[in-house]
Amino acid sequence: MSAPKPLVETRLFINGEYADASDRKTFKLYNPATHDLVAEVAEASADDTNRAVAAAKAAQPAWAELAPHQRGAHMKKLAALIRDNMQELAVLEAMSMGKPVGTYIDGVLAAGRLDTFAEAGGLVQGKTSLNTPGTVGFTWKQPFGVVAGIIPWNVPLYFCINKAAPALVVGNVVVIKSSEKAPLTSARIGHWIKEAGFPPGVFNIISGYGNPSGVTLASHMDVRAISFTGSGRTGRAITVAAAQSNLKNVTLELGGKSPAIIFEDADLEQAAAETQYSIQWNSGQVCMANSRIYVQDTVADKYIATFKKMFGAAKAGDPTDPGINHGPVADEVQYHNVHRYIDMAKAAGGELLLGGEKAEKGKGFFVKPTIFTNTPEDHQFMKEEIFGPVVNISVFSSEDEVLKKANDTEYGLYSSVYTKNIDRAMRVAKHLEAGTVGVNCTSPTTCHDLPFGGYKASGTGREGVRESLDHFCEVKTVVVKVGK
Ligand code: NAD
Repeated sequence: MSAPKPLVETRLFINGEYADASDRKTFKLYNPATHDLVAEVAEASADDTNRAVAAAKAAQPAWAELAPHQRGAHMKKLAALIRDNMQELAVLEAMSMGKPVGTYIDGVLAAGRLDTFAEAGGLVQGKTSLNTPGTVGFTWKQPFGVVAGIIPWNVPLYFCINKAAPALVVGNVVVIKSSEKAPLTSARIGHWIKEAGFPPGVFNIISGYGNPSGVTLASHMDVRAISFTGSGRTGRAITVAAAQSNLKNVTLELGGKSPAIIFEDADLEQAAAETQYSIQWNSGQVCMANSRIYVQDTVADKYIATFKKMFGAAKAGDPTDPGINHGPVADEVQYHNVHRYIDMAKAAGGELLLGGEKAEKGKGFFVKPTIFTNTPEDHQFMKEEIFGPVVNISVFSSEDEVLKKANDTEYGLYSSVYTKNIDRAMRVAKHLEAGTVGVNCTSPTTCHDLPFGGYKASGTGREGVRESLDHFCEVKTVVVKVGK
């Protein structure tokens, strides 16, 4: 059965209605597999962004008065509508940023988050204390009011929902700014937000560039909290804008340079299968993808041969074909950026084992699965996020040596270790500087109800269930003097 033709919605969704940008400005979106023009998408101006914030502000008091289960009821309806339209969403993402429809999991994850948070509003409770003589004290957790989410292009619908759902269920109202590289699924769900009965203004979605819409949100005096996923560069700019405006509460989920460590006693077949999937899925455009692999010298040849065979078997092609699992990278900028790093590694003396060559001109921004070995540890290629299907595999001999190398990065999002020795697994997990450590598994495996976020420059704050709910609440202490 061929996929249904998707509805390509290109307008801003503000106050429960779709509208063009106030100055009618649009930006062009091209299909990275075919280079065809997909759509001209509304580019929110500062005025449009201010209008979205004002609509949200007006809607907030009534929304906050509802019980969590009443707010959750709309979220469950939206989850069902997303599930009913999964194929359409998959095609929209394939057209905009090249994710193969056969590997599309964003919609399932987004619907799951809506259902989880729809039920989780009741977890938001305060504390009581009798520890100050003559008083009874307690705390309330209350919504901020207007909050914003600014999202990247690699797993767009999931990030849109993972920011909106916890904020909404505790009584905030939301403005989401989608990425200029992948705005279509976020724009599409406005129709279903309306159908799910959200009151106008509660859940707004705008598209456009970082400047002006993202900048306006980050510095807006009525936006009281912001949750950002994207690059470190933008995360820093948002932090500065927040500090220079109203010191809004900021959570940052940023980049990674994740190491995977394979010891000689690991199940090598499993380790090779999982580590190659980690760097191949979504053409390596994943914050936690294991882009640096360290394998023990005694098993290096066997592991590398197995990894190379599996990674090299990725099927590249039209991302709307269900048989394809390797799409193009998101756009021309991303393509040239990834190849810049490939050229760097070649020049630095990294040994190229697979891929590395450019795609045929005019035939899509496909980057071949690429393996380097033993690129110098202190080289830029080993330090910076590449965000493509490009990995370096280095050989190590001792635990101390590999821990030092694995941690020698400013990033700290996800690390993994493969070994059957439980003592070593726990020792290494303890010393790895990362927000998540996989033992005998690697990214994208995470625990969906536990915190996710980065050590060091991979971010500040955590997302999760309780963590996200807390991020979107102010805490008020009420102290009651008790007379004798
Ligand atoms: P990006 O920082 O370029 O853009 C992200 C969003 O920020 C976009 O919507 C963009 O329009 C907006 N933006 C840009 N400049 C802005 C500004 N000055 N003020 C406000 N908003 C602005 O990131 P990207 O290229 O879209 O995404 C890739 C990055 O995201 C990678 O670094 C990746 O590691 C990271 N990422 C992190 C996680 C995580 O959970 N830690 C998950 C996915 C992606």
